[in-house]
Amino acid sequence: MRAYTYIEKGRFGFTEKPEPSLAADTDAIVRVTLTSVCTSDLHIKHGSVPRAIPGITVGHEAVGVVLAVGSAVRKVRPGDRVTVNVETFCGECFFCKRGYVNNCASHDGGWAIGCRIDGTQAPLVRVPYADNGLDKIPDGVSDEQALFTGDILSTGYWAAKISEISQDDTVLVLGAGPTGICALQCVLLYSPSRAIVCEKDPLRRAFAKKLYPQALVCAPEEVTEICRSLPRGGADRVIEAAGADDTFSLAWQCARPNAVVSVVALYDKPQILPLPDMYGKNLVFKTGGVDGCDCAEILRLIADGRIDVSPLITHTFGFDDIEKAYDVFENKRDGVIKTAVKI
Ligand SMILES: [Zn+2]
Ligand SMILES: [Zn+2]
Repeated sequence: MRAYTYIEKGRFGFTEKPEPSLAADTDAIVRVTLTSVCTSDLHIKHGSVPRAIPGITVGHEAVGVVLAVGSAVRKVRPGDRVTVNVETFCGECFFCKRGYVNNCASHDGGWAIGCRIDGTQAPLVRVPYADNGLDKIPDGVSDEQALFTGDILSTGYWAAKISEISQDDTVLVLGAGPTGICALQCVLLYSPSRAIVCEKDPLRRAFAKKLYPQALVCAPEEVTEICRSLPRGGADRVIEAAGADDTFSLAWQCARPNAVVSVVALYDKPQILPLPDMYGKNLVFKTGGVDGCDCAEILRLIADGRIDVSPLITHTFGFDDIEKAYDVFENKRDGVIKTAVKI
């Protein structure tokens, strides 16, 4: 089969590979129907993911149909429509048992698919620990609605969950890119008294405004003043999903004393934590990569009509045109938010 492959730093391309087969009795093989291009794919391409292995098929955000399952797989059967989780986790180790599946201690634990083992930008993908890595898509939920469940929507859901949001909170989300929008959507599930989203790109601001009229959408030049004028002198909860050079400092500056600041962005460079400047502000920082173990709940919320991030898919391409999908996404052409690829 043809697979879109990480050939070497700076270069992805099609290669011919054998079809994957079951390697363990907990594996499943999934026929991919729709996959996406994610910023993390670009990080691999640019060589900023040291653990990514050249030669692997890329792609880690996908939906498809189960083709085969190992003898120990209980949750899914051939023919089931499923979402693929970006994270592989055993469900048994110290971290998994506590819900910290991002740090699963098994060999393939964490982000393996499309990074250390073959990913979803191919007609077929092998999913280890299929009972944890796959979730059945409810009837009535389209591929497009389910596509982001295993990655950016899990990230947004997790970001909102760890931010301890209550109904009298003002929640600030930095960044209205795909992850920021997913975070905003999940923040709104908690009905905070106010949601603010800050984004530098005017097109993305307009997109966020149209999709979420209940949120206050602003530019980085305005956000500090807006937050300073809040009743408690800053946002109660801040989710940093932008990952730009100055957005980490913006995140803690916009927070009120004793706020929770959740940092889910992935930075290209180290960030400065100026403790003397923030002394006495007594902030709580939460950081890191998603614990993607809430996919079933997310799919339920999609089926109930409480989450719909399918409008994020602004462009769809066929598998033959995947290079175009990368080009449009990477260079932010034509007002793109996310590109999907039909396999
Ligand atoms: Zn991703
Ligand atoms: Zn584990």
